[in-house]
Amino acid sequence: MHLPRRQFEIIQEQALRELPYECCGLLAGIRKPDKKGGFENIVYEVAPCVNVLYSGREHGFEISFSEFIEVEREAASLGYTILGSCHSHMGTAAVPSNSDIDFARPGDSMIIISVQHRQPAGVTAWYRRDDRGFHQETIKVVE
Ligand SMILES: [Zn+2]
Repeated sequence: MHLPRRQFEIIQEQALRELPYECCGLLAGIRKPDKKGGFENIVYEVAPCVNVLYSGREHGFEISFSEFIEVEREAASLGYTILGSCHSHMGTAAVPSNSDIDFARPGDSMIIISVQHRQPAGVTAWYRRDDRGFHQETIKVVE
């Protein structure tokens, strides 16, 4: 996954701003086919979203359908698709939780930023396969 440095900073800033709750957002960009029959995610924009989970926002998140549609429409106007989502974890590792497995649609990618002691402590990206499994993606921060 290619992630522009500015968008990487936006995710970190939002994670700290939303404390003590998990932040969430959507990733817009393109899926670029690679030579091995797969593809690489090229992120161009990160759209911070409102965490609308009714309770337990410290350990979970939800993006409203209406906000998803709005961001998707805006992304399409720029020639982008929604590649997946990003969110933060408070005091736990940057690995998908059980609810993350349910949230991510097959084919989507998920960036997770771990926040420990009010500081970003790790960022990972995960590609959701069809069989409920995740495959970790390497994040390349680009200028
Ligand atoms: Zn999570």
